[in-house]
Amino acid sequence: MTRLYNEPAAFADEMIEGFVAANARYVRAVPGGVARSTVSPEGQVALVIGGGSGHYPAFGGLVGQGLAHGAAMGNLFASPATQQVESVARAASNGGGVLLSYGNYAGDVLNFDAAQDRIRAAGIPCETVTVTDDVSSAPLAEKHKRRGIAGDLTVFKSAGAAAEAGYDLAEVVRVAALANERTRSFGVAFTGCTLPGAAEPLFTVPERRMAVGMGIHGEPGIGETDIPTADELAGMLVARLLEELPEGVESARGARVVPILNGLGSVKYEEMFVVYRRIARLLEEAGVEIVDPHVGEFCTSFDMAGTSLTLFWLDEELERLWDAPVDSPAYRKGSVVAAERVATSAQQGEQEDRSGYPAATPESKDAARQVVAAIEALAATVDANVDELGRMDSIAGDGDHGIGMQRGSRAAVAAAREAAAAGAGAGTVLLQAGDAWSHRAGGTSGALWGVALRALGDALGDEARPNAAMVASGVAAAAAGITSYGKAQLGDKTMVDALLPFAETLTREVAAGTSLLEAWTWAADAATAAAAGTADLLPRMGRARPHAEKSLGTPDPGAHSFALIVRAVGDVLDGGPTERS
Ligand code: ADP
Ligand code: MG
Repeated sequence: MTRLYNEPAAFADEMIEGFVAANARYVRAVPGGVARSTVSPEGQVALVIGGGSGHYPAFGGLVGQGLAHGAAMGNLFASPATQQVESVARAASNGGGVLLSYGNYAGDVLNFDAAQDRIRAAGIPCETVTVTDDVSSAPLAEKHKRRGIAGDLTVFKSAGAAAEAGYDLAEVVRVAALANERTRSFGVAFTGCTLPGAAEPLFTVPERRMAVGMGIHGEPGIGETDIPTADELAGMLVARLLEELPEGVESARGARVVPILNGLGSVKYEEMFVVYRRIARLLEEAGVEIVDPHVGEFCTSFDMAGTSLTLFWLDEELERLWDAPVDSPAYRKGSVVAAERVATSAQQGEQEDRSGYPAATPESKDAARQVVAAIEALAATVDANVDELGRMDSIAGDGDHGIGMQRGSRAAVAAAREAAAAGAGAGTVLLQAGDAWSHRAGGTSGALWGVALRALGDALGDEARPNAAMVASGVAAAAAGITSYGKAQLGDKTMVDALLPFAETLTREVAAGTSLLEAWTWAADAATAAAAGTADLLPRMGRARPHAEKSLGTPDPGAHSFALIVRAVGDVLDGGPTERS
């Protein structure tokens, strides 16, 4: 359990503050996370990593010369928001493009992909390589679905060393993908972790039992056994990893391999050494040439008790990159020629808030007031339904849909009011609201609502007075954004099931010449009916998927909240209720 904290909600921020204070030689705080405090050569590819907090040394501890250039640091076990990733990438960028690399979790993929689009739109070349080392998280045939665990280190290290060696972006991408292909991990867990302020562990493993292949946030594993002896555990980890040689490795015999025995948070180094003693013997018996073994904590899960074995199958190039010097808070190797520190004035400049909004026409400023009213109505309906949404999400999900939507929509109202009061146009008000929403809400739905409001804002812009056609095409763009980032299809039992009928009805009716108000009302009816219909579906996306059957008979919470929201927004479109008989 976590004993030392102040306000639980402030834990991640306070942790980052203290981490930076203790490691100013390597890192500086930037909005969204940390970047190197040392100057990188002009034109060097920037490696930007990240994910939720609670996995130290991942991710901030791996920022420094020879490794990452920046880390986007989300809340505890929550993906960083899109704008955090974007902001860290901009601060870390050296003019050579950006490689985003992270552990392939759904929330991270959503936010990093959205950030990648924004970074590219800002004219900075940007590519992504996700880490997929955990063999228990999906079969080999679906390797792209596997999640990243301690293998983060080998992929980040290879990419960071390649960037330092002057490789261009395409080459750094090639190296990172190659390192990922040649990295495989397998882990076990004995107890779950307890987050600051929580009364219960996030997940539990029965007394004297061991979960096999369980994920670092309690994602279901592939089995459970009695806790074996240290030697038996070593045998199990090695056997599973030798079963699956990476592409390009013909035989374990003669292969050069870095073994990494990783502690998840509260397994003692001494216990791991006992396990490693046997791992080393088994690998030698298999003819593996052990190179530079690591036993320690490289990717933790708060105070979870567990351990994982990673095998990194080297080739000549990867071995050279692995051996290259590093100087970062949590990982050091060889001797690095210390670079100059970033000037303090540049550091402060990046922390300043952007106060000026783009210029807007009087028509758009006028429309901005209506946008604010619509977002206020949206937030009011979320407030009125917060318990119900939480209850629906707790049936098969994690129960946070109500509070997540509340945090997000309240932040959106505050940001929208502030922007409108400062004279921003309708488009900018929506962009600000979307950013605030995804930043504060957390969760999948928060990221998707952020994407939707931004898409709508882009479509409305800050010039013209929005008309029905613009609103309809903005809603269509929002729908496209949500399906492209979230990858859910009709029938997967998500908000998409209410969103698509809404967008289609709106587009069709507006094209047929129906007024915006009436078209919106028809569309909201379609969304309401479709949301109710999700009660009969089995979830195929999101957290509810593993508990699919439990959700039969209950509508999808995200679809339900979507329908409530579009209905509430319809009511303010002309300033009054739009009940139809
Ligand atoms: P989380 O699932 O991260 O806890 P919330 O509880 O706030 O987030 O939201 C859950 C809702 O998010 C689901 O009911 C579903 O409507 C929606 N959702 C989950 N995954 C997706 C996805 N990939 N695409 C679209 N909507 C999704
Ligand atoms: Mg939830």
